[in-house]
Amino acid sequence: MGATRKAVCCCGACSIEVAGEPVLNAICHCTSCKKRTGSAFGWSVYFPDTAVVAKHGALNVYAKEGDAGYNRYFCAKCGTTLYWKSFAFLPDSTGVAGGCFVDDPIPEPNFSAQHNTHYPWLTLPADWLTAP
Ligand SMILES: [Zn+2]
Ligand SMILES: [Zn+2]
Repeated sequence: MGATRKAVCCCGACSIEVAGEPVLNAICHCTSCKKRTGSAFGWSVYFPDTAVVAKHGALNVYAKEGDAGYNRYFCAKCGTTLYWKSFAFLPDSTGVAGGCFVDDPIPEPNFSAQHNTHYPWLTLPADWLTAP
């Protein structure tokens, strides 16, 4: 299955380990990603469910109903959103918070989602793909 990478929450209690390379490595400028992270954008790295090799720690779930719904799994202790499953978008994959791969870094993203709502002061590499 090749090399694995581990994403870990702030307090270290929770982690998810994935194998191989992501199917999508994107940042997203939507309101939900800004609020989820408290940052200028979210970094979403999707791996096939079959590439998830381990999960550890006590996680709580934020379930958003509806067509664009998802389950977001966050550390019960420190609150870091570590990974999520969308019901419609890449339903056979698991989205992992890119910034949580501190010790096993993820390569540079190549996709900017909800690009038209990015903060005007943010400049991204010109060769990235974008979606409005
Ligand atoms: Zn934690
Ligand atoms: Zn988003």
